[in-house]
Amino acid sequence: MAHLSFAFKTLTRLVTAQPRDCPYCGARETQLLARKKLLLELRRCPDCLLKFRYPKEDARSNLEFYQEEYSEGMTTEMPSDAEIARLMETNFAGSDRDLSINVGLVDRHARKGRLLDYGCSWGYGLHQFRQAGFDAVGFEISKPRGDFGREKLSVEILNDFKQLEALTPGSFDVIHTSHVLEHVPDLKYALNTFRRLLADDGVLFIFVPNAAGQQAREMGLKWGHHISEKHVSALDAEFFRRSLPEYGFSLSFSSYPHNAAPRRADAQGVPQLDGIELLVIARREAEVVRLELASTGT
Ligand SMILES: [Zn+2]
Repeated sequence: MAHLSFAFKTLTRLVTAQPRDCPYCGARETQLLARKKLLLELRRCPDCLLKFRYPKEDARSNLEFYQEEYSEGMTTEMPSDAEIARLMETNFAGSDRDLSINVGLVDRHARKGRLLDYGCSWGYGLHQFRQAGFDAVGFEISKPRGDFGREKLSVEILNDFKQLEALTPGSFDVIHTSHVLEHVPDLKYALNTFRRLLADDGVLFIFVPNAAGQQAREMGLKWGHHISEKHVSALDAEFFRRSLPEYGFSLSFSSYPHNAAPRRADAQGVPQLDGIELLVIARREAEVVRLELASTGT
């Protein structure tokens, strides 16, 4: 059903000539990079450097998709009570929900404090961050997943954008978002939310499929993580280097398997990162530093 409705939406957007402008910065002229299954296009914005799927997603149908798709998946994919008990007992070690790599990286590069997991699904990451000593809260647009996490893992999950907007500015030391932003149609909203909610010197950790990694370059649109029904953009270090400093972040990058120390972006550009997964570590500069930088024009 999901595929049929996606095909229908795609055709409708084509027939109604949805504009090919950039979904992030609104630039009118964007470039066609490749086509997928005749109807889908991978396009690139020359201004903000975002690579995105055309036809584009709108926030409303994205929200509906995640309620329905995840409602369907709930019956077959979600762990039983016995399985949940076992996963919690072992802190998800060795399971496909094991986030120990992420937790370790966050622990090394940020202070232990209040953490927001943006796009937390049913909260398995929240449990693991709490076990590591973080005061972790989640945000998830799928209500069925939020209900499941609150009930089975006793974690705090916000399900509504209004709840996010009601949070006090600067109330988080860490924001973690793993394999979420490539699904998000309104990246500007997400990045503004991160800027607003992070305290000075707070750190944002973004994990996404690395659309500029070796596999992505070699396989093109055959790469499984590239644009699809679920993936509305193909994210890479180049886009984040262009966009995130505008929100007051200084950046370093890493890619899977994350063994090497994260490398800073500098005037020459972003370091070459070939792994299948990209990690962006974005530190929010303190207000006073930002003002100084602005006044000296650097
Ligand atoms: Zn753009």
